[in-house]
Amino acid sequence: MRFRAMWRMGLGALLLALGLAGVPQPLAGQGRAAGPALPVIHADHGPNSASAQDRHYVVLVSLDGFRWDYAARDGATHLLALGKQGVWAPEGMIPSYPSLTFPNHFSIVTGLYPDHHGVVANNFYDPVRRARFTSSDPRDAEDGSWYSGVPLWSLAESQGMRTACLFWPGSEATIAGFRPSYYLRYNDRISDAARVRQVIAWLHLPPAKRPHFIALYFSEPDHEGHQFGPDAPETRAAMLKMDALVGKLKAGLDATGLPIDLVVVSDHGMAKVEGGWITLDKIANLKGFETSGPLLYGETEQDRQRVYDEIKKATSEFVVYRHKNMPAELNYRTNPREGDPIVVATGPYAIRARTPPAGRPDEPPTTGMHGYDPYLVPAMKASFFAAGPDILEGKTVAPFENVNLYPWIAHMLRLTPPKTDGSLNILSGTLRDNGEVPEK
Ligand code: AMP
Ligand code: ZN
Ligand code: ZN
Repeated sequence: MRFRAMWRMGLGALLLALGLAGVPQPLAGQGRAAGPALPVIHADHGPNSASAQDRHYVVLVSLDGFRWDYAARDGATHLLALGKQGVWAPEGMIPSYPSLTFPNHFSIVTGLYPDHHGVVANNFYDPVRRARFTSSDPRDAEDGSWYSGVPLWSLAESQGMRTACLFWPGSEATIAGFRPSYYLRYNDRISDAARVRQVIAWLHLPPAKRPHFIALYFSEPDHEGHQFGPDAPETRAAMLKMDALVGKLKAGLDATGLPIDLVVVSDHGMAKVEGGWITLDKIANLKGFETSGPLLYGETEQDRQRVYDEIKKATSEFVVYRHKNMPAELNYRTNPREGDPIVVATGPYAIRARTPPAGRPDEPPTTGMHGYDPYLVPAMKASFFAAGPDILEGKTVAPFENVNLYPWIAHMLRLTPPKTDGSLNILSGTLRDNGEVPEK
């Protein structure tokens, strides 16, 4: 054991010296996956501890933009069966504000509101750092200094348990001192079927190397929802395709014979946009403002109050707040990255700060959109289905905030979580052990 640990350290030092650490390494077990091996990056943290090897497994799946009511509306048989076998939220799960991809994926894995984990939108400006975060720019997505909190994979890694992530937002960065043991650079061209095969291959690794927490991301049915709207046949077809994929994944997980809790969620819903763009620089003079999408960053207190006054009575399609006066239930009033003042749409309206520069085509808003206040626009609610050895059968839960998933998943993995915005009490009634922490 001692010799193996020394050997591993030696290899790590050698790889570092050769500049190879973090470069895709061939993985034992990958060969079991049909098709070409994916470019998995291996951040070597050693084997699972003996105690971790005895624990259960959690596979956390996100279906981007899978609205809370899609499954029941169109008979998504695999998801509904999963819910029946375990637990589901027939009235949906409440996303954090704003109901966008990066903020919500990171809330799910940190148990923190965007206000606290810092990814306050897919794209935002940081007035303290005087820099922009753009989720589609790998230099930002992979830069851990943008993210706060302890993602589930870092929590597990720090407690001796190996993890894997396939495209979960934030998973390519070093956060709270760790990257997942296995992860990939974001590449949407990697097929959904290949992603499922990779997860199954990870679960066939030998016990010392096998990840106990796996996070898996799919970008559908969000694309179709944007392009065609939530009620279109194309969106329905994409949604049923994802349901069939969940069926395949579940069959693959069952075939491993391992004690795996499968948790399928989405980040937000989708609404059909009403009307064209509402452009804030047509209502107020934004001179001296940094902007990002609908976010406004006034340089001086005078600018902020002036623009607030200029737009506050403009339309019933949004309400404008000074930052510190944002409604408490949105948990969006302490982080300077949120801007000031803040415009909150009162319905599914397309709001942007600036008119595109002359010469740039001014595209109309997409048919479907999200990002709205889930309490004002219930179409923003997300999905939640889960079943496995830790979860009671035939349970339903009332709408709950997605930050509560964190202590629930940490409990299933017997990890000790830090204090977050989530509480185990919210979902403990779905657990076979009722969320009791065993005496050590
Ligand atoms: P949204 O419109 O907020 O739902 O954003 C969805 C888009 O985010 C998807 O179409 C993906 O292209 C992109 N996306 C999702 N995950 C990642 C990631 N890990 N890195 C970069 N982009 C991502
Ligand atoms: Zn999304
Ligand atoms: Zn989207």
